[in-house]
Amino acid sequence: MYGGSSRYSEVKGTKILRVDPSSPDADLIRVAADVIRRGGTVAFPTETVYGLGSDALNPEAVMKIFKAKNRPLDNPIIVHICRFRDVNLLASNIPRRLDILAERFWPGPLTVILKASDIVPRVTTGGLDTVAVRMPRHRVALALIRESGTPIAAPSANLAGRPSPTSDRHVIEDLAGRIDVILAAGSTPVGVESTVIDMTGKTPTVLRPGGVPVEDLRAVLGRVNIHPSILSRGLMEPEKPLSPGMKYRHYAPRAEMVLVEGEDGSVIKKIRELIDEYVVQGKRVGVLTFDENLDAYSRAIIKSLGSRRQPETAARRIFNLLREFDREDVDVIIAEGMPEKGLGLAVMNRLRKACGYNIIKV
Ligand code: AMP
Ligand code: MG
Repeated sequence: MYGGSSRYSEVKGTKILRVDPSSPDADLIRVAADVIRRGGTVAFPTETVYGLGSDALNPEAVMKIFKAKNRPLDNPIIVHICRFRDVNLLASNIPRRLDILAERFWPGPLTVILKASDIVPRVTTGGLDTVAVRMPRHRVALALIRESGTPIAAPSANLAGRPSPTSDRHVIEDLAGRIDVILAAGSTPVGVESTVIDMTGKTPTVLRPGGVPVEDLRAVLGRVNIHPSILSRGLMEPEKPLSPGMKYRHYAPRAEMVLVEGEDGSVIKKIRELIDEYVVQGKRVGVLTFDENLDAYSRAIIKSLGSRRQPETAARRIFNLLREFDREDVDVIIAEGMPEKGLGLAVMNRLRKACGYNIIKV
């Protein structure tokens, strides 16, 4: 499908530049950075998922991201920086505690919501007066931002609504022919997006669980609220989303999906019943389970998120497995829940959204 190990290839007019994730070739980074500087679009790996980037300060360039992804215009985009002092360019009224956060979590999977400065185009912030800022830790991302000489606006590099891209293959699947360049560097290590924390209010509030566990934020900040839509266990969609991304169907496979949550024994029993029902209807069934329950099911395509006790593994695998089910033409995916500790909170949030809040409690 694409040029294997060769450094340059092209799919539907999109240039694919294959780089080493730990020490990317300077000349390829230069080619990609040139495209950013001229107002074009570049997909690149971060430690969370692949991002689709353009010059965050150039409104026409940012518009191209919305177009390529079919992203609703009111959904703001995270701005990526490669050195701390650029926060002062993008934000005003910066709270003192940002220093502590940055010291501990940057570069890394934490996005901070701050009051936006006038330099940030309103198309980048989805019309809001706040801006989301992150310093990623992936070497390719940092090299690209540094070489471009401008902050890079980048949402996940997937078509809006689809599972986020955790390998260059996923980016090519969704965006070849729609963007200028893809920096291809294999799989992303964390696998779920950054944690988004709003620092504009009195108490810091997590708007999206992600790569930095809420427990770690509390250890540094003390009191941290979690937005109720995350804690409502998915039974209620937010009516007035603080973070506009909350209100859209997200991460969704093409297959119908249902999430079964509850006590282990009852979950297995319920899923077995569901498999029987769907099979009778002539449906191809997929089950997304954990290593502990791999032998509990039959008559279905079974995939494991790893051990239930290792949410890091589940995070790394979740989006790829949802896409695999689609490639294998499954009609319905039945997923098991997991404990919401550490990265488990982010994994459960993605599962609930992926199934469109189609949840069975047992
Ligand atoms: P993604 O599009 O996958 O990169 O996700 C970015 C997330 O950050 C979305 O949920 C956005 O709504 C959220 N976000 C970005 N900027 C802001 C902002 N200024 N205020 C609140 N949420 C934001
Ligand atoms: Mg996204």
